[in-house]
Amino acid sequence: MSVRFLHDRGVIARYREFLPVTDATPVISLNEGSTPLIHSPRLSEIVGRGCKVFVKYEGLNPTGSFKDRGMTMAISKAIEDGAKAVICASTGNTSAAAAAYAARAGVECIVLLPAGKIAMGKLVQAFIYGAKVVAIEGNFDDALRLVRELGATGRVAIVNSINPHRIEGQKTASFEIIEELGDAPDVHILPVGNAGNISAYWKGYREFRDLNRSTKQPRMIGFQASGAAPIFHNRIVENPETLASAIRIGNPASWQFATAALRESGGSIHIVTDEEILEAQRWLASKEGIFVEPASAASIAGLFKCAAQIAAESTVVCTVTGHGLKDPDIAREQCGGVIPAKAEMGAILKLLGWE
Ligand SMILES: *Cc1c(COP(=O)(O)O)cnc(C)c1O
Repeated sequence: MSVRFLHDRGVIARYREFLPVTDATPVISLNEGSTPLIHSPRLSEIVGRGCKVFVKYEGLNPTGSFKDRGMTMAISKAIEDGAKAVICASTGNTSAAAAAYAARAGVECIVLLPAGKIAMGKLVQAFIYGAKVVAIEGNFDDALRLVRELGATGRVAIVNSINPHRIEGQKTASFEIIEELGDAPDVHILPVGNAGNISAYWKGYREFRDLNRSTKQPRMIGFQASGAAPIFHNRIVENPETLASAIRIGNPASWQFATAALRESGGSIHIVTDEEILEAQRWLASKEGIFVEPASAASIAGLFKCAAQIAAESTVVCTVTGHGLKDPDIAREQCGGVIPAKAEMGAILKLLGWE
C-alpha cells in the first residue's frame, strides 16, 4: 500500500475539485468523512406510505462529530496562511475537532468554553489533544464574541463556523449522500444550533444540483431545542437552556444563511423539547443500535414530530451529528443501573426468572 493511497482519504482528498484548495494548501486530515448512511427500517415504517429513512451517522468521524469535516478545511487553510495558533468558542465538539487538527498540524489551539456547560467526553478531548482550555463565566454566545475580538488582534486564526472554510468542508456531507443514494433525498432533517451545518448542507446540495450530479434538492427541515430556539422564534434568546448542549445557542452565527436555506429549499424550522430529545435518543439506541448525543437526537425527535407531513414515497435523510459517548452522563441518568448479584449460578438464574 502506498503512502499516497493512505492520504487519498478525508474530505479534501475526496472532494478537492469542489473546495477552495490549491497545490499550496497543506492537507491536514484525519481521514474524516465517508461516514455511514444507514437505512432505518423502523423509522421508515413509522413514517410509512412508502417513505425510506436513512440516518447519516456523523458520530463516526475521527473526533466523534461532523465538526471534523469543517475543521480539516479550516486548519489546512490556516496553516496555508501561516497561522501559528488557532482559536474557537465551543459548546464542546468544535473544540474537540480544533484541538485534534491543531495537534496534527503542530500549532497551538486555544478554546473558550462556557464554564460548567461542556459534556465530559468533549472536555476530555480538548485536554488530551493538548489545547489550552479557558472556561469563561458566560455562555457560548459570550465566548464567540470574545473569540471575534481576539481574532481581530491578528495573533490567532478563528476556526469557528464564522470562518467560511468550515462551511466549505461541511458541505461534503451532502456530496456523500447524493453519491450514495444516486440522487439528493426529498427531505433532509437536522438539528440546528449555530446554524452552520444546515447552511453547509444546503450549499452542498445546491452545488451538486448546479453540476447536474443530482436531479433535485431536498426540503431542509431544522429542529432547535425549545429552550434555545432563536430562529424558530425569530429573536435572540438571551439565556438559552437545553440539555442538548451542542445546540444551546441563543444567537446563531449563520442565522441569515440558515434562513436563506429554509426559504430556498421550501423547508421549515421547528422545535422539540428536551423530553422528546431524550426519548428519541433512547429510541434510536435501543431500536436501531445507533447511539448519538442529545443534540443529534433532535433530528430523530423532529422526524417523529413531522412524519405525517412528509409526502408519500419520500426519501428522507436525518443527520445525527455526534457520537453518544460524547455525553455519557446524560445517557447514564436516564438508564436503569446494574443488577447486583452474587457470583452464583442459582442467584443469576433467579434474577433472570429462569428457575
Ligand atoms: C455543532 C453541533 C450541532 C449544531 O450544528 P450547527 O452547525 O451549530 O447548527 C449539532 N449537533 C452536534 C453534535 C454538534 O456538535
